[in-house]
Amino acid sequence: MNTLVINCGSSSVKYKFYSMPREELIAKGAIDKIGEKGSRIKNHLQALERVLGEIKEVDAIGHRVVHGGEQFQEPVVINSGVIRKIKTCSGLAPLHNPANLDGIRACGEILKNVEQVAVFDTAFHQSLPESAYIYGLPYRLYQQYGIRKYGFHGSSHEYVAREAAGRLKKDISAVNLITCHLGNGCSVTAIKNGKSVDTSMGFTPLEGLLMGTRSGDIDPAVVTYLIQRKKMSVSSVDALLNKESGLKGISGVSNDMRKIKEAAGKGNLRAKLAIEIFVYRIQRYISAYMGILGKADAIVFTAGIGENHPDIVRKICKGLFGNLKIKPRVMVIPTDEELMIARQTYRTLRGTLRGQTSTLEVRTRNQSVARRICDNIKK
Ligand code: ADP
Repeated sequence: MNTLVINCGSSSVKYKFYSMPREELIAKGAIDKIGEKGSRIKNHLQALERVLGEIKEVDAIGHRVVHGGEQFQEPVVINSGVIRKIKTCSGLAPLHNPANLDGIRACGEILKNVEQVAVFDTAFHQSLPESAYIYGLPYRLYQQYGIRKYGFHGSSHEYVAREAAGRLKKDISAVNLITCHLGNGCSVTAIKNGKSVDTSMGFTPLEGLLMGTRSGDIDPAVVTYLIQRKKMSVSSVDALLNKESGLKGISGVSNDMRKIKEAAGKGNLRAKLAIEIFVYRIQRYISAYMGILGKADAIVFTAGIGENHPDIVRKICKGLFGNLKIKPRVMVIPTDEELMIARQTYRTLRGTLRGQTSTLEVRTRNQSVARRICDNIKK
């Protein structure tokens, strides 16, 4: 099944094209600056027309969708009802979900007969218990507005968890892990018997660890203080927390770990401090999650910093497990969110089509495509 994975950001489209289930990468690419001044690509439809002008024989499309709210626990085949539900989650991810929907609509217009699957960043964390996802706010805010912890980076945490289980030669349902996705955005997840039971990002991807430009956990009273006493506007506080804080805000150097390490190496004290805080916050979450899990088979590091900075990984792990009789293994596993989406797309359509072919009623919109997919599955 030739599966195109699409990741639509507000001004970009990234794609990878796989032959499944062999997981062979056939093509990949990206278009950015969509809709920006001077760009020839005005919208997602034009961007995807360009992508699909080059990529032929697409059997299925998997879309990364950032927020599935509580509506989606797993990937789904996209239809008009699913599009409506994704729209209702847009308020929770105003920058991301509308772009994801633009991509879905554009693909639907260009390739009318190709099945599309939505894979949600939040879905892996839908297994969190209430005690982990309800905030200490009046309960009605959850009931009325859906304000709760959702968690993000789900495809990445799930991908590395499955890879780790493979390395441990155990079934995913038999492993306890702490997975650390450390990129520009950073999050830690506690995984018990293969399921996410807690994660550091929250209602939005702002909560939790110190990140490239995001503050992570702070006292929420800082926000009201800045607005009421320092007369900052709501939008400038929002920009401060999301774009000017984190490693960049503390170091005053950059959000890029390479540049911060270089500056720290030259004696820049704030760059050193930024690294210390970054490491400390991760240690704090790992320690808490170790306590919750009781026992972890491995701590897994992934994404730009996790994969490329062994000195940071060593700093994080140093002294962490000193008093444990059985220490968890430390693993560095490169993430591949797109491959996870391709796998989920394949699995979702295979499930649907298997059900359909068993009744000899192939009800997909394009029967010849469905038969080809079924033939591939049988192979
Ligand atoms: P994003 O979250 O935007 O996908 P990444 O996962 O690439 O970003 O993470 C960005 C961080 O990872 C930066 O701090 C950067 O320094 C670091 N990083 C990414 N790639 C490399 C590399 N090849 N070598 C060293 N550091 C890297």
